[in-house]
Amino acid sequence: MPPLLWKVNEIFYSIQGEGRHTGMPAVFLRLAGCTMGCAFCDTKYAFTDGKTMNSLQILVELAQYPCKTVVITGGEPTEQDLPALINTLKSAGHTVHIETNGAKDTDVSKADFVCVSPKKYVAKEMLQKADIIKLVISQQTDLEDLQKYYQYENEKTQIYLQPESNKQENIDLCVKLIKQHPSARLSVQLHKLINIK
Ligand code: SF4
Repeated sequence: MPPLLWKVNEIFYSIQGEGRHTGMPAVFLRLAGCTMGCAFCDTKYAFTDGKTMNSLQILVELAQYPCKTVVITGGEPTEQDLPALINTLKSAGHTVHIETNGAKDTDVSKADFVCVSPKKYVAKEMLQKADIIKLVISQQTDLEDLQKYYQYENEKTQIYLQPESNKQENIDLCVKLIKQHPSARLSVQLHKLINIK
């Protein structure tokens, strides 16, 4: 069997800036490629650029950091063999978090934490698998549309509202929406506020 390969845009050590684990150190493994094409995407640099790596190369690079938590992000991780990557990292003792747009139903059962951030379309199976559903909110957001995501809230799955690009008008809208729906939580992009990667 040929070795498993992934196209990796970058691996870096930082602080999680979004969602439930905001403030937690983590190694970010950013896979290359995403076909969703969101206008506001802040990782367009990851659409095409990347180097091909096998599991050993990825593990060796991860081993240089003192932190065992790895956030697999993108790009869009489900556009490559994500289940095999999760297995590889778990076998090496890592705690694995996933950040996905949830468009493609994918086996993420071995992951420790799954964040689904729906964009133009999303698979309902992925919403059901999510630990958090992170919704990017802007002045263009169809607020009635939010109701359909609120239906997926339960003991496991929590809703986070994240103001697009940390714009004040979007922050104000998120605060208003959370006050109306108090089980939701606010996610600002902390890493941008404190000017780190
Ligand atoms: S789904 Fe995410 S990575 Fe893909 S284009 Fe949209 S914002 Fe960018």
